[in-house]
Amino acid sequence: MIYVHIPFCRSKCNYCAFNSKVGGADEKNFYVDALIDEINFRGDFSAAETIYFGGGTPTTLTLAQLEKILRAIEKNFSVDKRAEISVEANPGTVDENFLRGLKFLGFNRLSLGVQSFDDELLKILGRIHDSCTAKENILLAKKFFSNVSVDLMYGLPNQTLEKLRRDVEALKNFDVEHVSIYGLEIEDGTKFFQLARAGKLNLPEENLCADMYDFITQNLPALGFKRYEVSNFAKENFFSRHNLGYWTGKKYFGFGAGAHSFDGKLRTSNVRDVKIYIEKKISVVEEVVTPQAAMEEFCFLGLRVVEGISARTFEKNFGKKIFDVFGSAIEKNLRRGLLEVDGDKIFLTERGMSLGNEVFADFLL
Ligand code: SF4
Repeated sequence: MIYVHIPFCRSKCNYCAFNSKVGGADEKNFYVDALIDEINFRGDFSAAETIYFGGGTPTTLTLAQLEKILRAIEKNFSVDKRAEISVEANPGTVDENFLRGLKFLGFNRLSLGVQSFDDELLKILGRIHDSCTAKENILLAKKFFSNVSVDLMYGLPNQTLEKLRRDVEALKNFDVEHVSIYGLEIEDGTKFFQLARAGKLNLPEENLCADMYDFITQNLPALGFKRYEVSNFAKENFFSRHNLGYWTGKKYFGFGAGAHSFDGKLRTSNVRDVKIYIEKKISVVEEVVTPQAAMEEFCFLGLRVVEGISARTFEKNFGKKIFDVFGSAIEKNLRRGLLEVDGDKIFLTERGMSLGNEVFADFLL
């Protein structure tokens, strides 16, 4: 699995705490060169079944720049012929020619950061697009890609259940294959953080946010989407293989500023600052994943996925029985109706999916 981080956006959204910034043409060129140096240096010709270009907004680079990065990956890894090759794009940064170009380069999955179809909400979020652009971009994306994902957000300032209902309803007009949902979080360092502190953000109450989540999870299945993870829904055969890899503990390479890597034992992360990344190319902080942390991660990442975790796989990986290590966490959540055990499998119930964070916290030793 390979992740490539492109930290550039047209402008900074009001809620955004991701590693992203507005970059100039020179900075982007230098960044792409640094990225290719890193790929050449760290590439080990291992098999790559998925490649994911995320950001930021990867589609703020030119097609030529994206091609250079992809070719560097192909030179340094053994990219599977059937690899899932995803690119994130934001409405307003792509047109028909650009999308055709992405397809031509080899990308086969497009993830569009729509967030909402409501113009008022898009403005509050500080997005560069309006609903009309979002709709046009989805239709165009569907012209070239048979695997299109749309991001939607809930828990937004001024958002009501009715507005959310209209957003979900709007999906009926597009034959997209995948939907990811994100609850707004107010993060330090963002414009929203300052506004919230000054009491100037009309955020929905916690109960309303929970109702919004429930509304989405109850209504997407009627549109043909199956929930396969706490926040992800897809039509049959369109689960994101890349994201499933993270939740099921696969190894991954992360390239670019702030990108994380995991080799099964060691987790490394590149320096986050774009300028320092460009100058020093590779600067990594290493963290050994202790057996305890590995067991915890196996559980709380695996439980995010609808089919849950396997007690047998736990024992095979760690040489211990899962009930000996996490017996009290499992029993507590069985009693609360948040977990279920069926033979070898331990998984979240519908209610457990809504209260996932409470369950995951119990799996921290
Ligand atoms: S487009 Fe995404 S990454 Fe870029 S500023 Fe907005 S939220 Fe952040």
